[in-house]
Amino acid sequence: MSETYDYDLFVIGGGSGGVRAARMSAISGAKVAIAEEYRYGGTCVIRGCVPKKLFVYASHVSGDIEDAAGFGWNVEGLTFDWPTLVANKDKEIKRLEGLYAQNLEKAGVETLHERAELVDAHTIRLAGSGRTLTARYILVATGGRPFVPEIPGAEHIITSNEAFHLETLPKRIVIVGAGYIALEFACIFNGLGADVHVIYRGPQVLRGFDDDLRDGLAEAMRARGIDISLRTDVTEITSTDGAYNASLSSGDTVEADLVMYATGRVPNTQGLGLENADVKMGSTGEVIVDEFNRSSVENIYAVGDVTHDVQLTPVAIREGAAFAETVFNGTPTKVDYSCIPTAVFTDPEIGTVGLTEADARKAFKQIDIYKSRFRPLKHTLSGRDEKMMVKLIVDGESDRIVGCHILGADSAEIVQAAAIALHMGATKADFDATMALHPSAGEELVTMREKWVPAAAE
Ligand code: FAD
Ligand code: NDP
Repeated sequence: MSETYDYDLFVIGGGSGGVRAARMSAISGAKVAIAEEYRYGGTCVIRGCVPKKLFVYASHVSGDIEDAAGFGWNVEGLTFDWPTLVANKDKEIKRLEGLYAQNLEKAGVETLHERAELVDAHTIRLAGSGRTLTARYILVATGGRPFVPEIPGAEHIITSNEAFHLETLPKRIVIVGAGYIALEFACIFNGLGADVHVIYRGPQVLRGFDDDLRDGLAEAMRARGIDISLRTDVTEITSTDGAYNASLSSGDTVEADLVMYATGRVPNTQGLGLENADVKMGSTGEVIVDEFNRSSVENIYAVGDVTHDVQLTPVAIREGAAFAETVFNGTPTKVDYSCIPTAVFTDPEIGTVGLTEADARKAFKQIDIYKSRFRPLKHTLSGRDEKMMVKLIVDGESDRIVGCHILGADSAEIVQAAAIALHMGATKADFDATMALHPSAGEELVTMREKWVPAAAE
């Protein structure tokens, strides 16, 4: 493309967004280099989605063992070994890390294994070697890092980064926050045998999700033995004899062997030199971008968590792909954020796409709710007293389904398929005309006929 620069594109950050953008740009003929300061694969592969999901699978085994007796199995005497799980997980992550680097190289991308920082709008300095390189375009894909509020004793806490490498599984764990990471790890640690206490400042877990999901999940987590303290802050953490005491705003103290904070993530832009190039950032340090992911500087783009928009892997990947299409393939491409499915891999799991009931009530004149809360077939024999919930939200005027929310086993898998229908604009009549698949939980989506009526209006 250009002979005046060392590269057509320099990507900073070898995570989900950066790797996709680098590969696709190189495949389109650009000369591309990418720098990664830690491990190729980024948060998702190294210390996010993938190792987390492997831990989730491990934690489900205890529930399956509890449920097994009803199916005639005698499973006494089974034991769990945390170091084996961590070692097996590490092996798989190493394999994936290698694949990421290999795929970049196969596409012709030059991979650098050090931190990169901006000197000016076209110049990058490699922090390790001190080398400077120039590029026509720079893509910032540096992701985010855990945010921990300032509290006395913060030095005693861990975040999700460290949770993947604990040498032993602590017996008593306090988790602060009630978003994705807090609740997923609460269920992981609980499933693996720890006593877990979640402490959250708000009135109910998972702010922003549909209220039925929030209430149903909190109830199910409590029934599985997890303590949840709502409207509660941690005011101080002290350490005594290898244990920790978390002082709470309620006046209580909780003793634990581990305190984990999962209080959100902030963009990784500290010390990146963005100010040297006059790149505009927002209040949390996020790179401000337009609908093509272009920053305030013409040749500098940013994708993924560093823009602090929706912090999900598929979104970062789409943005990386759209960047390559726009800049190197002559096809200006905007990402469609209108229908993003998401799951919270708790036990039971949440799968959700579209508007919550509360948001739909604000957006539409009239909405219809279809809701089914039932005991899954499996639990008729397992004896577990846990309900599944399937909920559809319909725009009463157009009959279009605008929200689909599921709490229960495999809801992530079900909602991924439902998201295709919602994205295509499916109506309730389309769902009703679809043949059910029996026996399954997903069939509730196409068999609910009665509109749900709020108790007060009955
Ligand atoms: P990242 O993947 O974070 O990649 C950024 C990379 O840049 C990192 O490797 C970092 O080391 C590198 N870097 C930073 N600064 C520099 C520099 N100056 N020079 C060189 N390299 C640099 N999302 C889902 O969709 N599903 C899930 O189940 C899910 N689970 C998650 C679980 C956890 C515990 C966490 C923390 C996150 C999870 N996420 C999940 C979110 C998902 O991981 C992120 O949205 C996604 O990884 C963002 O991709 P990214 O490319 O923007 O950034
Ligand atoms: P979330 O935004 O999901 O949750 C943060 C939690 O911390 C909320 O409960 C929030 O409360 C609370 N909190 C924030 N600030 C404070 C504070 N100062 N004091 C006390 N509590 C506080 O972030 P996570 O860290 O859980 O995860 C980061 C992102 O990673 C997620 O938003 C998600 O996009 C992604 N992710 C996705 C997963 C998936 O797809 N399954 C799994 C894990 C992560 P409040 O709501 O009141 O602000």
